[in-house]
Amino acid sequence: MSSGRNDNSTSGKGGATRKNAFCSFCHKSYRDVGPLVEGPGDVYICGECIDLCQTILTQERRKHAGSNSKPLSKVPSPREITCRLNEYVVGQEHAKKVLSVAVHNHYKRLINRDEGHDVVLDKSNVMLIGPTGSGKTLLAQTLAKILDVPFAIGDATTLTEAGYVGEDVENLILKLLHAADFDVELAQRGIIYIDEIDKIGKTSQNISITRDVSGEGVQQSLLKMLEGTITNVPPQGGRKHPEQHYIPVDTTNILFICGGTFVGLENIVGQRLGKKTIGFTNSPFSAQDNNKASYWGNVTSEDIHHFGLIPELVGRLPVISTLEQLDEEALIRVMSEPKNAIIKQYRRLFQMEDSDVEFTDAALKAIAQKALEKKSGARGLRSIVEEIMLDIMYELPDLPNGVTYRITEAVVHGREAILPIPETEKVTKIA
Ligand code: ADP
Repeated sequence: MSSGRNDNSTSGKGGATRKNAFCSFCHKSYRDVGPLVEGPGDVYICGECIDLCQTILTQERRKHAGSNSKPLSKVPSPREITCRLNEYVVGQEHAKKVLSVAVHNHYKRLINRDEGHDVVLDKSNVMLIGPTGSGKTLLAQTLAKILDVPFAIGDATTLTEAGYVGEDVENLILKLLHAADFDVELAQRGIIYIDEIDKIGKTSQNISITRDVSGEGVQQSLLKMLEGTITNVPPQGGRKHPEQHYIPVDTTNILFICGGTFVGLENIVGQRLGKKTIGFTNSPFSAQDNNKASYWGNVTSEDIHHFGLIPELVGRLPVISTLEQLDEEALIRVMSEPKNAIIKQYRRLFQMEDSDVEFTDAALKAIAQKALEKKSGARGLRSIVEEIMLDIMYELPDLPNGVTYRITEAVVHGREAILPIPETEKVTKIA
C-alpha cells in the first residue's frame, strides 16, 4: 500500500523533524512504530495502521461484493471423502470413516440451517487420539483441502486465559480468518485443528507461573468457542485494546477437530474394562500387546476425563476416534504411496535435473526401522531421508544428466555413497 506513495513523503528520507512525528491515526510515535508515511498538511500514518486499513477495506469490499464463498449445494458422501483421504493418508481406516461421517453430517447441518428447517442438527466436533506422527494433523489438513474450506492449526498448550502471557483463544479464529483471506463467511465454515488437547487438563503437570496453571480457564474459553459464540477477533492478533477494531466471527459452524496423544489412556480403558493389567507394557501403543486393539477401540468420554479435561469440554467432542501407531509396513507405504509421498517428491527433484532416483525395498525398510527407533512415527521419515540425500542433492546440478541413482540399504546406513545404477540395469522398477 505504501509503495504507491511518493518516496519523498516517507520519514525515511525526511530527516530529523519527521523522527518526532506521530501517526495521526493511533498517535504512536515514529520511535515506537518505525517509518511513517506523510500526507499533505502534516498528516502521518504508520505501518500498523496501514495494515489495519487494508484489512478493513478488504472486509468492506467483500461485504459490498457479497461473499465469494460458494454455496454448499452438494456435500460429498462419506465414501467419497474417505476415497480422497486415501490419496494422502495411509491406514487409519477407522479414523477416516469417523471423520468422513462427521464432516458429511457437519455440512448437511449447514445446508439444513440455510434451508431454515425446524429440526436443528447438533454439531459434532471430533477428538482424534493417537501417537505422535500417526496422521492426526494430516487427516484434519487433508479434510480441509478436500472440502476446499479454510483450515487453521493451533496448539492447545500455547493458549492461555486472557490476561496471561501467551496466545488468546481468539488467535485460533484469527488464523482461520487469515486462511480465509479475511472472508468472514468462509471462515465461519472452516475447520480448526487443536493439537495437544490432552496437555491442558487440570491435573497436567505443565506448571508455569506465566500461564493459567489449572488449565481450566483455557478449557472454559475453548468450550465457549466449541459451543458456538460470537468471538471478537483483533485483526492484528495479540492482546485486545478497548479502542481496537474487532471482527466478529460466529464459531457455531466451525468444525473443531482436537487431537492428543493421551499417553496411558489404554491403561485407563483396560482398568475400566476390568482386564488385568499385569504384563501390560509401559508403552500404551506396544505392538506386542494383544489387548491393545480392544482397549484402543473402546475409548469413551469418561476415560478422557482422567486427563483433567472438564466434562463439558469432552461433551462437546462427542465423536472420538483412535489412530494406530504406524508399523514398519505402514511407514514404507507412507514414503511411497501418498500423492505427495517423499519418494515421489525426490524423484521429481531429480527429474528436474534430467536424472532419476530409486530406493530399493531394503533401503525403505531400513529407513522405516530408523524412524521406528526415533519413536516419532511418520514424522521422523523426512529428516532421515533428507540426511541421506543431502550430499547428492548438493552435487546433483553439477553432475552429468540422464543418470538414475540408487539408494540402497548400505547407503541408508552410511556405509556406501550413492551411486548411479549401471546402464545394464536401467530397466528395473523405479520406487
Ligand atoms: P500427528 O498430528 O499425529 O502427530 P502428523 O499428522 O503431523 O502427526 O504427521 C506428521 C507427518 O508424517 C505428516 O505430515 C505426514 O507427512 C506423515 N504422516 C503421518 N501419518 C501419516 C499417515 N497415516 N499417512 C501418510 N503420511 C503420514
